Amino acid sequence: MSASPPDTTWEALAPWQQTLASTLFATRERWPHAALIGGREGLGKRRLAMHLARSLLCETPRDDGSACGICTSCHLVQSASHPDLRLIEPVTYDEDGGAQRVDSIGVDRIRELTAFVQLSSHRRVAKVGVIVPAEVLNPAAANALLKTLEEPPPATFLLLVSHQPGRLPATIVSRCRRISVVDPRPAIAAAWLAEQGIADAHGALALAGGAPFLALSLADPQIQRGRDRLLALLARPEQFSPLAIGATLEALPKDERVPALGQVLYWLLTWATDLAAVASGGAPHFHPDRREALGDLAARVARVPLFRYYQTLLRQRTLLAHPLQPRLVAEALLFEYQSLFIPSIASAF
Ligand SMILES: [Zn+2]
Repeated sequence: MSASPPDTTWEALAPWQQTLASTLFATRERWPHAALIGGREGLGKRRLAMHLARSLLCETPRDDGSACGICTSCHLVQSASHPDLRLIEPVTYDEDGGAQRVDSIGVDRIRELTAFVQLSSHRRVAKVGVIVPAEVLNPAAANALLKTLEEPPPATFLLLVSHQPGRLPATIVSRCRRISVVDPRPAIAAAWLAEQGIADAHGALALAGGAPFLALSLADPQIQRGRDRLLALLARPEQFSPLAIGATLEALPKDERVPALGQVLYWLLTWATDLAAVASGGAPHFHPDRREALGDLAARVARVPLFRYYQTLLRQRTLLAHPLQPRLVAEALLFEYQSLFIPSIASAF
């Protein structure tokens, strides 16, 4: 429960991260106690945070503030075993070291972090805590973190990574240096994806709305099969059964249901976005390979209900950390989708 994730792969910064990273490394000597790295999911913020942590812990940093990569501290960071570095993520570990994702980061984890920063550092350089993503801190955890942010011990650095910084309490945000990570240029992102072995790099990038790390994770064959199945159903709203999809979700192992709902929600959001774009005479942004199906549906959908539906999906996404019943949420969203095209269902809402 208390161990850091057994992540032993050290990955180089992606090409689009290098300019921002250099700017940040250059301020190493006057680095603030707390920084908030914000930007949407899939841009590589966690990786950037780990490179910053390595720089802050490096025993013989280069003149430009970047880590040397060869000192003892650098080796320890790279092998995920540095005693002065804590990575806090919403995961728990069973006795065999297997990781399980959980919905939120609780106060126990932050108390651990607080105790850790109070100790003197093993390697006498600094202590670094990285929280990914900070928006899933539960209220008690956020409060506990705030106390540490108010009275930071010397040579202690907290790096908060957030996909949705707007969900963080203003009291926390105001105590952090803000670092915004923006989308890379498509050509650079696609070239990087091709290097990672993605055959259709431009298609993968489109699916992820331009976020390369998200594109990489969505390229997983199992996720792609899930997308193909769901989009085929969404293309024929009269013919699918939300209850059957709900039952499929319910049949999954318990810890896979929320991630599966997250996938359904992601495809619904991107599909609804594309429907709205096509209905307005534009081109699909996420699913250009489904242009024809989107065109057929866009001709049948009314704009205002579609906009309302989109708002519902966005609201559900912010609640995803605490869905009451993944099955019921999925069924309700799919019934509401059908109602956009089948007025008799709409009257049931
Ligand atoms: Zn070093």
